[in-house]
Amino acid sequence: MVNRLLPILLLLAHPLYAQPQGNAGPRLVVGIVVDQMRPDYLTRYGSRFGNDGFSRLMQEGHQCKNVNYNYAPTTTAPGHASIYTGTTPAIHGIAGNDWFDRHEGRSVYCTFDSTVQGVGGTGREGQMSPARLLTTTVTDQLKLATRSRSKVIGVSLKDRGAILPAGRSADAAYWFDIKSGNWISSTWYMKTMPEWAKTFNERRLSDQLLTTAWNTLYPVETYVNSDDDDTPYEATFTGETSPVFPHNLPALRGSSYDLVRKIPAGNTLTKDFAIASIAGEKLGADSITDFLCISFSATDYIGHQFGARAVETEDTYLRLDRDLADLFRFLDERVGKNQYLVFLTADHGCMENPKYLKDLKLNGGFLDNLTVEDTIKAWLTRQAGNSRYFKGIFNDQVLLNEETLRIEGRDLCKMETEMASYLRSVFPGLHDVLTGCDLEREAYHQLFKDKIQRGHHPTRSGHLWLVYSPGWTDSLYGKDRQCGTTHHSPFPYDTHVPLLWYGWKIKPGSDHQATDITDIAPTISFMLDIPQPNGCTGKVIGSLLR
Ligand SMILES: [Zn+2]
Repeated sequence: MVNRLLPILLLLAHPLYAQPQGNAGPRLVVGIVVDQMRPDYLTRYGSRFGNDGFSRLMQEGHQCKNVNYNYAPTTTAPGHASIYTGTTPAIHGIAGNDWFDRHEGRSVYCTFDSTVQGVGGTGREGQMSPARLLTTTVTDQLKLATRSRSKVIGVSLKDRGAILPAGRSADAAYWFDIKSGNWISSTWYMKTMPEWAKTFNERRLSDQLLTTAWNTLYPVETYVNSDDDDTPYEATFTGETSPVFPHNLPALRGSSYDLVRKIPAGNTLTKDFAIASIAGEKLGADSITDFLCISFSATDYIGHQFGARAVETEDTYLRLDRDLADLFRFLDERVGKNQYLVFLTADHGCMENPKYLKDLKLNGGFLDNLTVEDTIKAWLTRQAGNSRYFKGIFNDQVLLNEETLRIEGRDLCKMETEMASYLRSVFPGLHDVLTGCDLEREAYHQLFKDKIQRGHHPTRSGHLWLVYSPGWTDSLYGKDRQCGTTHHSPFPYDTHVPLLWYGWKIKPGSDHQATDITDIAPTISFMLDIPQPNGCTGKVIGSLLR
C-alpha cells in the first residue's frame, strides 16, 4: 500500500505542489500618479532635479513622450480610474468626481458609500469605497490571476486617488483624514487598521509638518523657470494677504489638517506612509507580484491655488523629486533593483491661467457656470413658460429634468438640440455644445468630439456638454475667482501627461508614438502575463516592449 502511495506522496512533496507558484512578473509594481502633473514640468524644472528621482526614471527608464487622455472630463476620479481600467468613463462609469446619477436620482460623490464605515476614523470622510467603479482594474486582474495571493494597496491623500487605482478587490486603500490628521480606510477593506498603520498614525507626523513655515528649497530668486513670487495669477492661503514665501503654516493651519494637502510636505507624508505599507505588508517580499498604487495629491491642490507658473508649484516638484528618490532607494534596498516595476503618470494636466494668457495677448477668458445657468433658465422660461426642465450643471454638462419632460410629452432630443444651438450663439467662450442624444447616436471620429463621446456615460453624464473654447474656463480661485488653474477640457493642456517606466524588464529609451492613457493598463497586463481589465479599450504600448 505504502509503495503504491509513494509516487503520489513524492509528487505532493514536490515544490510545485507545496507552495503556490509566482507569476512571471516582477516582485512589485509601483504605480505612481502625480496629480495635475504636466509633461513640461519635467523639462522646465529638470535642471534642478537630483539623480535619483524623476531623472532616474528618465535616464534609466523609458519615457513615452506623447501620451494623452482620450476623453473629457479630464478630472481626478476619471483619470485615476482610466489609468488602471484601461478604458474611459463611458465604460468604467467614473464620469466625474461627482455626478448626477440618473439611476439613484441624486448627485453622488464618486467614492462615497453609505453602506460602509470609516476604519481608523469616523464620519463621512471614512465612508468611501470603489462600489461605483463598473469594470475591473489591472490590479483586480492581478488578484484574479493569483487567486488573491498578490497584495494590492492604494495610498493617497485623496480618497479617490487611493481607492479607484486599487480596484474593488484590493486588500486596502488608505487616505488622509483632514479632521484627525490620520491615515484611514473603510469597512469595504478591513475591520481594523493594521498595527503598522496604527503605529504610523501614532507618530503624529501631520502635526510635526505644520510646525514650520514653508520656505523655498533654494533662494527664491533662483526660480527663474517660474514667474515672480508675487503675481496676480495666484490665490493666497486663507489668512494671507499676498501669495508669497515664506508661508507661515503654524499661523495658517487652523483646527483641521486641510493645510497638509496643500503643501509639499503632504507628498512627503504620502511617501512615508507608502514606505510604511511596503514594510508593514511585506510587499514585494516573494515571487508573487504585489501592486502598490501611490497618488501624490498635494501637487493638485497647490497647482489649483497657485497655477502652472508659480514658484510654489516649482518648489513642490523639486521637493517631490527628493521624495521619489527616497522611495526608489527604499525599494532598491527592500525589494531589489530591477525586481520592481515603476510607472509614473498624471491624472490630467492643467491650463494656463486665462488672465495670464490675456496679459500675453493670447486668447482666453472666463465664463462662469452661474451665468450659463441663468441664461438657460431665462431661455426655458421664454420657450416653455418655466425653467423647471433645468436641473443643474455638473462637470460642464447641463442636466435636464428628463422625468418632467416625459410626463409633459416634450421631446428630449429636440429640446437638447434647440438649447445647444441657442447656447452656441450667445457665448463666445463656448466652442461648442454637444447633445447627449447625438453622442449616443452618432459616431464621432474627429476634432475633440470623439473624446467627449468616450467620456459620456448614458446615465451618469448630462444632456448637454459645454465645450469651453481653448484657454477658457468657468471661475477659479482667489477673491476675483480668477486665480490659479483648473482642468476638465478635451484640449492638450489638460490631456497631455507624462508617462515614465522604470525597473523590471524596462530598457532605457524614449518614444514619440501617439499613446492613449488607456494603454497603460493593457501594457502592464501584457508584462505580467495576465488578462486585461474586463472593459479595456486601450492597446499595448509596443515601443516599450520592443
Ligand atoms: Zn487630479
